[in-house]
Amino acid sequence: MNLTVRRIGRLLTMTREPLVDAAVVVRQGRVVWVGAERDLPAGAAGEEYDAGGACVVPGFVDAHTHLVFAGVRREEFVARLGGESYDGGGIAVTVDATRAASHEELVDLAAARAASALSHGTTTMEVKTGYGPTPEHELRLLDVIASLSRRTPLRLEPTYLGAHVMPPGRERGDYVREVVATMPRAVEHGARWADVFCDQGAFTVEEARRILTAAREAGLGLRLHAEEIAHTGAARLAAQLGCASADHLEHVTPEEAAALAAAGTVAVLLPTVTLSLRSDAWGHAALLREAGVELALGTDCNPGTSWCESMPYAIQLGCLAMGLSVEEAFRAATLGAARSLRRDDVGRIAVGAWGDLAILDAEHEADVVAHLGGRAVLRTVVGGFLH
Ligand SMILES: [Zn+2]
Repeated sequence: MNLTVRRIGRLLTMTREPLVDAAVVVRQGRVVWVGAERDLPAGAAGEEYDAGGACVVPGFVDAHTHLVFAGVRREEFVARLGGESYDGGGIAVTVDATRAASHEELVDLAAARAASALSHGTTTMEVKTGYGPTPEHELRLLDVIASLSRRTPLRLEPTYLGAHVMPPGRERGDYVREVVATMPRAVEHGARWADVFCDQGAFTVEEARRILTAAREAGLGLRLHAEEIAHTGAARLAAQLGCASADHLEHVTPEEAAALAAAGTVAVLLPTVTLSLRSDAWGHAALLREAGVELALGTDCNPGTSWCESMPYAIQLGCLAMGLSVEEAFRAATLGAARSLRRDDVGRIAVGAWGDLAILDAEHEADVVAHLGGRAVLRTVVGGFLH
């Protein structure tokens, strides 16, 4: 699709200093020109969009979602408001509801969430399986993600999270072997990434090591849920294996943060989870920044601990609760998240990258952080198509 976005008051490209009075030209889905509007080459064909002085940023990259699920976790949420703490037990409720839903129902539910994310400026999204009761069902959820990719303009990054919950009654070693054995088939079903919920009450560091080693041999990229509920040493494993991302990291230590930085592992911060769990774990962002770790943001969209499709909301909490600067938060929501997916064709506005933009309902990106409860995004552009 060809599109010229004109009268951009302020343009964040993530590759150079912000531009003022700028324009972007997209041809056949890719950015072919970025610069000051007065230098816009004549004859830029295609549709024109007048941004009316708005601030434009790269389309958001949501680095961590569990978009495919059925059911709600209302009782658990209300109990938490009443003071109960989270132990991961509610995941089984979602597994039951997801097992009971048909392929089409799961696609419809995920498509509605994807549409919500798009309206909030997301253009690329990592999507995990994880609510299947067995590795076989997990493959079925990869098929749901494949169907979803034909229903949404979002660029999806499918992740096989066969090791999310240990099914009741299963012997641990057996289950881990089954997940390991399923890796090549996960690739056939469209997975690009593998992830493990490595935490207290979930999978151990040694189990995660076996699963991720098998995933790498099958050709999958590696991600890891690490140090969320308790400190287990998962972050060190992520660094040792050279995972593309380590996610959550509420209980990471300074030494582990340094190891992540040295390994080039991106830290995916999920502030909506901390809020939803009514936790006070906000300090890890500063610790990771101090260690020089590349930061990414995600919504962790899931029914139990973060019912959220809005990257602007993650940015707001990233700044107001986690202490990121506006600049850090926008970078984490675009370039940093793209790096966690090892992509350089999204998360920035530069010649050759996809023409994916979020046209903010604001003159400056800081206003999006300050304006609580407001509409952050006016229009979302994916590959030159206005949404
Ligand atoms: Zn997660």
